[in-house]
Amino acid sequence: MSAPAIRTQPSCRDDTDADSLPVEVARRRILESLSPLEQTQTVALRAALGRTLATDVCSTIDVPAHTNSAMDGYALQAADLPCADTTQLRVVGEALAGHPFSGAVRRGECVRIMTGAPMPVGSDTVVMQEHAERRGDDVLIGSDHRPGQNVRQAGEDLRRGALALAGGTPLTPAHLGLLASLGFAEVQITRSLRVAFFSTGDELRSIGQPIADGEIYDSNRYTLYGMLKRLGVSTRDMGVVPDRRDALQAALVDAISDNDIVITTGGVSVGEADYVKEILADVGQVEFWKIAMKPGRPFAFGRLNGGWFFGLPGNPVAVMVTFYQFVRPAIQRLLGQDELMREPLFELPCLTRLKKRPGRTEFHRGIMERDHDGRLSVRTAGPQGSGILSSMAQANCFIVLPHDAGDVEPGTCVHVQPFYSLV
Ligand code: AMP
Ligand code: MG
Repeated sequence: MSAPAIRTQPSCRDDTDADSLPVEVARRRILESLSPLEQTQTVALRAALGRTLATDVCSTIDVPAHTNSAMDGYALQAADLPCADTTQLRVVGEALAGHPFSGAVRRGECVRIMTGAPMPVGSDTVVMQEHAERRGDDVLIGSDHRPGQNVRQAGEDLRRGALALAGGTPLTPAHLGLLASLGFAEVQITRSLRVAFFSTGDELRSIGQPIADGEIYDSNRYTLYGMLKRLGVSTRDMGVVPDRRDALQAALVDAISDNDIVITTGGVSVGEADYVKEILADVGQVEFWKIAMKPGRPFAFGRLNGGWFFGLPGNPVAVMVTFYQFVRPAIQRLLGQDELMREPLFELPCLTRLKKRPGRTEFHRGIMERDHDGRLSVRTAGPQGSGILSSMAQANCFIVLPHDAGDVEPGTCVHVQPFYSLV
């Protein structure tokens, strides 16, 4: 088959047909058929970034381990703070981070102390150096202070035995820091999830190849690669597979042989789906759905030889939308992550009018920004065709318009799913 595939998109009229599945129903069906992977692996702390913590982690120590100073200044007894005027205290020593003062602080005395140094025995309050006046061996302190100020109590961050991180947490830089502060050199994470993907279409060429009339560069493998990498899964890019039965079948069988998930793009729209269906019937149980959403209407999901298959539409924006709405929660479920992470987070006024057809969920590409008064609002990112990646690249959020909603008038509040919470 050498003819470039020039296909008509589903018309507006058949966008909302009765046998389309609502987005929430499709997502629920997918999630209900998956359960978290049981296998785990242990890796060095740095290698755990972006991966999923397999078990709860409790603190083995108090953090901080010692009551210490939050400021550079003077450690003293609260009882020595003057109620009015000033008081003069004798400086009897020095405490640095890593070099505690070995003596005790008595009434009328203080210790020069640096941030992070353990509080000397007898002291319970720190006066910042900016609020103290050094006079030889003494220091002069005013009355504007509070007992216990500028002191970090042992265990105030985390008590020994307390839950530090729950199993299922996708590990971010803050989590690595927290685990390091507890002394963990290694962590137990969910085993690596292996995902293979390929594009289908006779019109597709890979970057680096020349393109002839009617051919286009394959962009889906690059968006997929990026979206998968951000979920911390391992990927196998299998390239472009032509619209030929033997090639597709061989690629699917090969893909599922050493991967948990196979993702394809293209070839699931009306007319093409029957063809892919036939192939999949031999190697798995896959259902083809029309989903009441825009973009991303045709979609396939099912089991493939013990793994999972996601057949995404071919249009580049539809690939990203269906990935974020269905594949990402599925991967999160397999990794044992919290599903709530995918919910829209904000409700913001929308500045532009948006056309919306009731009976399907629409994901518009939006730009969230602040006006000069600092108020956050959202507007459309421009043309919304399901092949238009440039508005996707400019957008910083999806505006999620619910199934039953109609047109959005300027000033109405809409649900916004920021991209940075997705990736
Ligand atoms: P399909 O779902 O195969 O009918 O493809 C729908 C539209 O998306 C067609 O215009 C295809 O040329 C385009 N398309 C399919 N796959 C890709 C891809 N990997 N990269 C860029 N465009 C694609
Ligand atoms: Mg195609």
